[in-house]
Amino acid sequence: MAIIKNLVKENKYSIKCPFSMEPEFIVVHNTANDACATNEINYMINNDNQVSYHYAIDDHFIVQGILENRNAWHAGDGAEGMGNRKGLAIEICYSKSGGKRFEDAEILATKFIAEILKDKGWGIDKVRKHQDFSGKYCPHRTLDMGWTRFLNMVQAELNILNKADGIAIMGKSVKSAAALQAELQSKNPTLNPRFKDIANTYLKIGAKYNVKGDIAFCQMAHETGWLKFGGQVAESQNNFAGIGATNGGAKGAVFASIEDGVTAHIQHLYAYATSLDLPQGEYLIDPRFNLVKRGIAPLWTDLNGRWAVPGTTYGQSILKIYDAITDDKSDYPKWRAFGDKWYYYTSAYDYVKASVGQLKWINDNGKRYLVDESGAMLANVVINKNGEVI
Ligand SMILES: [Zn+2]
Repeated sequence: MAIIKNLVKENKYSIKCPFSMEPEFIVVHNTANDACATNEINYMINNDNQVSYHYAIDDHFIVQGILENRNAWHAGDGAEGMGNRKGLAIEICYSKSGGKRFEDAEILATKFIAEILKDKGWGIDKVRKHQDFSGKYCPHRTLDMGWTRFLNMVQAELNILNKADGIAIMGKSVKSAAALQAELQSKNPTLNPRFKDIANTYLKIGAKYNVKGDIAFCQMAHETGWLKFGGQVAESQNNFAGIGATNGGAKGAVFASIEDGVTAHIQHLYAYATSLDLPQGEYLIDPRFNLVKRGIAPLWTDLNGRWAVPGTTYGQSILKIYDAITDDKSDYPKWRAFGDKWYYYTSAYDYVKASVGQLKWINDNGKRYLVDESGAMLANVVINKNGEVI
């Protein structure tokens, strides 16, 4: 997708984008104006207002004014705000008068946003609106026409992109071991303690083979019913992917340890996804490695009818488990620092704030903390359960 760059000059960084940034999500805006994207960006990079955004999009063009690794001032949530410090800002043009050219600008924006999501491995939950951060009714016309409608448009574009090249078996894991392990524990509350590190084992061994260990973990969940077993394969076999277990009733391969079982699983995926030799220093554990036509199934959905027979939705079932796992569960709530201030995050985006002009108590781990209306913890005010300042 062609992007016209008209980047703010470095001598204006202190006004427009003073902080370096690693974006965590997208923030959608409407310009509430009738100028085209080129003019919006030109105006923005040349004035001295502390107002800025990364992209403006009209019915024909995507114009970039700020690099993605710099912050911008757009979300109205202050110098330490998540929106201003972690959000990629996208302005959709022509929202003042609306009509066909606004609708076309929205369509181009949804295609562009879907590309960003795909590039970064993000889901639709990474698409936020200005309103989420400051309460301002923005993107006003997009909201008038329906926010869910807009998200569905983005999702449809993302589905097309994902379908076009599918989701590869090879590559880096995205989800954390903590999130995967937390999901396992919640799906299987009586999990045998010997599996307490299995998510980590999948990520570690997956990384050795450049196989997505997080999705392989989800395949394990699918195959073993979240390690409850109960099918042909017994827990004691350490066989997490039904290797050698056939519809004829064969109980399948047995591995000496969890580590060996995970290695065999990853090797079996490796056999399907690539025709490369095993990585240096690795030795073969998977007894069925050489029965696979090497490299025949580079995508998870290519395993349909191969790993599982019959199976027209086998890969999709694994990816569905994968999509449902969010990092939020295991990581939040937690305190996060921005600058020299601390905020109590309840998810990747939301943190606790007091009402305007008020202070608010937060109970955390037996201690009580005060935050102000910006959400910042007040320095030196930490009080224990008995109400004593400590
Ligand atoms: Zn806005």
